[in-house]
Amino acid sequence: MISRRHVVIAGALLPVSNLLAQTCGVLTPRQTEGPFFKSNTPLRITLIEPGSKAPRLVVSGQVLTSGCKPVKGALLDFWHADETGDYDTRGFRYRGHQFADAEGRYRLETIVPAEYPGRVRHIHVKVQAPGGPVLTTQLYFPNEKGNQRDGLFRPELVIKMAERNQGGFDFVVPA
Ligand code: FE
Repeated sequence: MISRRHVVIAGALLPVSNLLAQTCGVLTPRQTEGPFFKSNTPLRITLIEPGSKAPRLVVSGQVLTSGCKPVKGALLDFWHADETGDYDTRGFRYRGHQFADAEGRYRLETIVPAEYPGRVRHIHVKVQAPGGPVLTTQLYFPNEKGNQRDGLFRPELVIKMAERNQGGFDFVVPA
């Protein structure tokens, strides 16, 4: 049993406010949408194609305002290259949108996208609070050789990988 006293001490040791300030004080940087965006994507959490043998990836996190409030029902629209570095420009493979839950949480299940000429591994996304402006950006992967050679790469946009194929990223959007 954890006493109130222990909870208070644990809270004092854990710099939660500092962590939050890092996560949600600053808007997520914007990036170009690139040439492969398509609207009207399917509503779905998993983009994994049946039969794909590519390594799986789960990215989850929260959509927050710069005031650190969760954005209930935020729209997240993801798209990325397939396991060979190609975008589906005819259909909607590796494209999908979803809405954050009441706590602003989202979860994307997909594959690890391949690099393609000129670009390091990345995932495109548009995030929008209900009634707010669209924030277009890209997410990157830690410890990729190509990160420093890609002129668009920004360390603030790196997915925080907890395990090999599970990562987290919180978006901070204008509301
Ligand atoms: Fe791209």
